[in-house]
Order: sequence, then C-alpha cells, then structure tokens
Amino acid sequence: MMINKIQRLDANDPLAHKRKEFILPNDTIYLDGNSLGALTYASAERLKTVVHHQWGQDLIGGWNCHDWIGLPQRTGEKIAPLLGAERGQVVVCDSVSVNLYKVLITALNMRPDRGKVLSEQGNFPTDLYMAQGIQALLGEDRCQLLSVPSDHLEQALDDDIAVLMLTHINFRSGRIHDMQRLTQLAHDKGILVVWDLAHSAGAVPLELDKWEVDFAVGCGYKYLNGGPGAPAFIYAAHRHHSKVSQPLSGWMGHANPFAFSDDYQAAQGIKQFLTGTPSILALAALDAALIVFDDVDMQQLRDKSIKLAELFLELKNEHPTLNELTLASPADSQDRGSQLSFSHPHAHAICQALIDAGVIPDFRAPDIVRFGFTPLYLRYAEIGQAIERLNEIMKDKRYLNAKYQQKKTVT
Ligand SMILES: *Cc1c(COP(=O)(O)O)cnc(C)c1O
Repeated sequence: MMINKIQRLDANDPLAHKRKEFILPNDTIYLDGNSLGALTYASAERLKTVVHHQWGQDLIGGWNCHDWIGLPQRTGEKIAPLLGAERGQVVVCDSVSVNLYKVLITALNMRPDRGKVLSEQGNFPTDLYMAQGIQALLGEDRCQLLSVPSDHLEQALDDDIAVLMLTHINFRSGRIHDMQRLTQLAHDKGILVVWDLAHSAGAVPLELDKWEVDFAVGCGYKYLNGGPGAPAFIYAAHRHHSKVSQPLSGWMGHANPFAFSDDYQAAQGIKQFLTGTPSILALAALDAALIVFDDVDMQQLRDKSIKLAELFLELKNEHPTLNELTLASPADSQDRGSQLSFSHPHAHAICQALIDAGVIPDFRAPDIVRFGFTPLYLRYAEIGQAIERLNEIMKDKRYLNAKYQQKKTVT
C-alpha cells in the first residue's frame, strides 16, 4: 500500500524534473540541504567559465567586461522574487552575521530615542552574539539586548524597544513565526523589524514588501544552494533608503568608489549596504545556482516540502521502534519550515550511524537530529528509504558503537 502511495507521489510530483539540475552523489540520501545546499550543474559550469575564461583570459578587465562589479546587485535581483521584493531592495554581500551588524545598527540609528533590541531565547547564536557585540560597542543606553521566550514576544513589544530582531524559521525546531503579524504589531509600537531568513529564503513563500518588513538578511548556502560559505543577502525596504546610514562604510558602498575621495559619501539605494570587494568566485556560484528557481512556483515548492515531511512522519509512525525519537518540531505542518527535528539522548550518535548508512541529516546540540527537506532535489522514495535505514539503526542500536560517539568540529 505504502509503496504504491510513494510511487504515486513521485509520479505526480510537479517538481520532479528539477532534480536533474543538481549533482548529487550516488547512494546518498541528502537531508541536510538546509545546512548546505547541493551543487547545481549551473554553478559548476559557471565556476569553470569564470575561472578559465573570465579571470584566466580577461584578468582585471573582467570587472568591466563581465560586469563583476555589478554582480552583488544582479544576484540580489535574482533573490528578490523569492522574497516577495520589488527590484532595488536586495543586495548580496558578506555573511549573515556581518549583514546583521549592518542592518541592526542602521535600524538602531533610526530610533535614536530608544535603545532596546528585542529578540528571543534560542534564536540562532550568531544573531544574539552580534547584538551582544553591538551592545558592548555602543553601551547599554544605545543597545540593550532583551531575549524573551518565544511566547512572550508579543507582550514584550513596548514603546522603548527600537528593533525587533527575529529569525523567521527557528534553526533547531523549525518553528515558523507569523512574520506579517509580528511586523505589524511591532510597527504599531514604532518598532523597526529585522528578520533573519536563513532557513526561509528558497524554502517558503515570502512577501517582504507586502508585509512591510523593514530589513532582512539571509543565507546563500542553505536553500539557495550557493555553495559552502556563499555570500549572504540584505533586504532593505525602499522607503528607508534615503534615511539610513550603515556602519560598515566601505568603498563599495560609496557613491563613487573610483573617485578615490577621502570622504565617505554613501551610494543611493541598496548599494549603500555594500562594504568591500566582493568575492566573484563565490558570488558567481550563487548567481548561477539561482537559475534553478527561474521556473519554480514557491507555493508548489512549499506544498512538496510539507508533503515530504508529512510522509516522513507517517512512515515513522508505522515503526514502533522510532517512537524513541520525540518530535521537537511543531506537529502542524503550517507551523514549521522545511525541516523536522527529533530529540533523543543519543542524537549525535544516531546521526553518525545514519551518515554511515548513506542518509545525511545533522545534529544540533544538545539532543536534536535534524532532517531538512529540499523539494527541488528530493524524491518521496528517498524518504521511504531514509526511514527504513533509521529504523534499522534504532532496532539494532548500532549507534551505540564506540565509533559513533566521537564528535567532530562541525556537527
Ligand atoms: C545559518 C544561519 C546563519 C549563518 O550566519 P553566517 O554569518 O552566514 O555564518 C545565521 N542565522 C541563522 C538563523 C542561520 O540559520
């Protein structure tokens, strides 16, 4: 019965044809595209071209003849539709952490009479760390980080808060915030919002313009498949462009970098959020990877993401041994992003044993095994196989083997 159902799901999958745009190792079921997206043929080809033909042949001329200098904005324009953003509001540069620093200080500067940044406990560490660093730099009068439990956020929105800084989809649980509602509630109190979209961009439909988001940042190497350490993006709403100043005032954000003037004068528009010289190889890989989204309807992608996770849960429930793994994500698919997390005292070892069995999830301290679902390159049949292998590992307790107890630097 179940096998028929899985075959039917794959046969009727409107995104099935996307898989051939990715280079994936044989005999591997990749459930970690939420940490590092898979390689696209487009990126592999583009890198070859940029290295051999552009850099190799055109040398410094590439900045003009291949418009390398315009790439941060061009790539930003490819990401914009995935965010529900009109043109001119997204630029690609730096890392999420550095971009958070830029937009957080920018937003604080727009609320000089307030000094608090509201966030939530259990937010992604770098978000909290960056705010803590800004607090140490500016002093508590100008920046004081308040982290409250997620269900206290709404009542904590007070008129002494300058900025609400949240991650849309929680990295540990996958819980999804109602971005439109929280943005509206924050605005009602005169609070600006900064959203971290690391687990959202390329995974769920977004409407940043419609929801009147002020600033957002997001990741290039997760669901956008830009490659390890791919540059991140910044979204800044049009209405703020003429009123802001960002703190990392490097020459790439200057109105006229090649005038080499001694004094900083910010560029107009989204370009003012740039800082230094972009890494063209890294940007080119991300720019090419975004081509796979050209013909993708984000609602269709979201539907498949939910179906993949629902199938995972349904199959898991057929195996009593798997009851040991406790769901740590919201049970309702509408309330979570493109992942399922489970807690187990041996989560790390289970993860290692699964990787050995050809299924790649990841581990998040202290006790979470995280399965990411990437609708562009996963088949329903792979969910079935992943559950079978997980069941074997749990049944024979293979994960207790000493070789699975050793933690590596990156989990
Ligand atoms: C992955 C991730 C980041 C990554 O930040 P970098 O500075 O690019 O390393 C930031 N925030 C969240 C919520 C993430 O999941």
